[in-house]
Amino acid sequence: MSQTIFLGGRTHPITVSDEGYEAIVALVTAQRVCTNGCAYTADNPMVTENTCLSCLVNRQSYLRFVGPLGDPDEDGYQQFKFLTEKGNVYLTSTRSDYAAQQDSYQTLVHWGFGVPAVYRPPRGEEVKLYPHSWTVYGNLFSSVVVIEKSYDQKHPATFLSYTNGTFRELTKRDADMKRLLEEATDILEESKGEDGSYQYEGTSSNRIRDSWVYEVVSLIAAAVYDVKVRLTASLKTEQSTDQEAIAS
Ligand SMILES: [Zn+2]
Repeated sequence: MSQTIFLGGRTHPITVSDEGYEAIVALVTAQRVCTNGCAYTADNPMVTENTCLSCLVNRQSYLRFVGPLGDPDEDGYQQFKFLTEKGNVYLTSTRSDYAAQQDSYQTLVHWGFGVPAVYRPPRGEEVKLYPHSWTVYGNLFSSVVVIEKSYDQKHPATFLSYTNGTFRELTKRDADMKRLLEEATDILEESKGEDGSYQYEGTSSNRIRDSWVYEVVSLIAAAVYDVKVRLTASLKTEQSTDQEAIAS
């Protein structure tokens, strides 16, 4: 039994014994370094193929290292998680030499936001919502964001997503949600200038953009959610104080 390896190019195959192959794998694993020559250590692991952590964060200096994401896959490759200042998750994998890539699904999961896995369109069968390509509106450090993805290449499904892991479809077919969308639009209407253009966070447009509406919706929904959480918490404290008073 034998194995084929290549050294310094793929033109001349070398056949080695199985035992020899094992020994070479062990030697290569022990001698492996980053393309800049850095040694891999527990504090400075390989985070993309042939690149160490410190060289990666040198290149993408807006990233802060979080750690491994899950366990290595069946081939032994490992994903790593990074965070930006705004809370976006970036991922690398030792399977490829790609730079760290933003991952909106892992960003939502990291902050505890609920992400639906299936969706029933107003007309038609239930469809799966795969984890890739979510668009996120709002502040990741708040308790509510708006998330959106197209479920059939054409039509977007939009949801309010809460840090308690729940979500609710943001659609005009839902009376509460319709009111929320109208409230946000009314607020944005007030930015209309004399030239007829609208302003939001330093940008200007001749119409109110959906992305603006979703950001304002997330702000309103987060404010309402935060008040509810605070009142529920203080109600619980009062109840337990009352019970203590009765008990004593
Ligand atoms: Zn390095």
